[in-house]
Amino acid sequence: MIEELVLASHNAGKLKELQAMLGAHIKVRSIAEFSSVEPDETGLSFVENAILKARHAARVSGLPALADDSGLAVDALGGAPGIYSARYAGGKDDAANNAKLLDALKDVPDAERGAQFVCALALVRHADDPLPILCEGLWPGRILHTPRGEQGFGYDPLFWVAERQCSSAELPAAEKNQLSHRARAMALLKQRLGLA
Ligand code: IMP
Repeated sequence: MIEELVLASHNAGKLKELQAMLGAHIKVRSIAEFSSVEPDETGLSFVENAILKARHAARVSGLPALADDSGLAVDALGGAPGIYSARYAGGKDDAANNAKLLDALKDVPDAERGAQFVCALALVRHADDPLPILCEGLWPGRILHTPRGEQGFGYDPLFWVAERQCSSAELPAAEKNQLSHRARAMALLKQRLGLA
């Protein structure tokens, strides 16, 4: 049973979210307590990058480590922007990323605009763990032709959520947090840890 782990993310929001979810069972610590260095994300998939980050966090902390990697995979673009979602248009600029995505899909009809948000979680018990716990959450949707909504971040204004008939930027945060790729991956992780 894991009693304490380090989260391999410098994002305070993610730390809070994870503490709320696992906090009753597992003490969740921040990688910031141990290192400010972020490893190169050299993998070609979400899962590979999550594993890289988890191993790095376990190495610098000496604790079991959990890492996540997420993004948007668009069917008509062979899964792009994929692991490059945050910097699709060059910088870390959501508006520029969304504009580039719309341009890449400008001739693609509705029926071929399928996409999914992806969240990969990797938990290693130690830096060289040969058997990481891997959980992937997929949230299927479709890419709109124009942005809608003000909530959320990243590609949310372009992501059509059929089950709610709105974009994910039009969903209240609490609702998105129940449906999202992250929620799905976290639910699987809880099951795998015997906490669900
Ligand atoms: P990260 O894993 O939080 O660094 O996310 C990588 C990138 O994927 C973000 O910068 C966003 O562009 C995109 N992304 C991941 N999750 C979401 C989401 O829930 N909504 C919108 N964009 C997302």
